[in-house]
Amino acid sequence: MHVGLSEEDKALVEEARRIIARRFREGWHHIGCALRTRSGKTFSAVHLEATVGRIAVCAEAIAIGMAAAAGDTDIESIVAVNRYGEVVPPCGMCRELISDYAPAAMVIVPGKHGEEAVPVVALLPNKYTRNV
Ligand SMILES: [Zn+2]
Repeated sequence: MHVGLSEEDKALVEEARRIIARRFREGWHHIGCALRTRSGKTFSAVHLEATVGRIAVCAEAIAIGMAAAAGDTDIESIVAVNRYGEVVPPCGMCRELISDYAPAAMVIVPGKHGEEAVPVVALLPNKYTRNV
């Protein structure tokens, strides 16, 4: 499915690129994320690494936490980029996290014909549920 990127989504990709360009730190911050809520607010963050590698926290989780702290987790669109500014798809845990907080969110991912926005639920068939 190729939904294409709106001007707002292109601006969101640029925001993610700006935060990782500004905050890149070898071994500590390699990924940038930006999200936009339906109220029009944007939050951007970088991922966290630590001396104990498995402590690492994805940039998406940090950005969602910032949105939660602001009381605004109705995510319309979210994107992550690497240090080179290339869009990267969210890991499995982030797919769960995004869909928990914003099941109607669109996620910008690399597609066959460039960056595209896809519904988070399309990235997560057979989503985890506590009630099974
Ligand atoms: Zn992740």
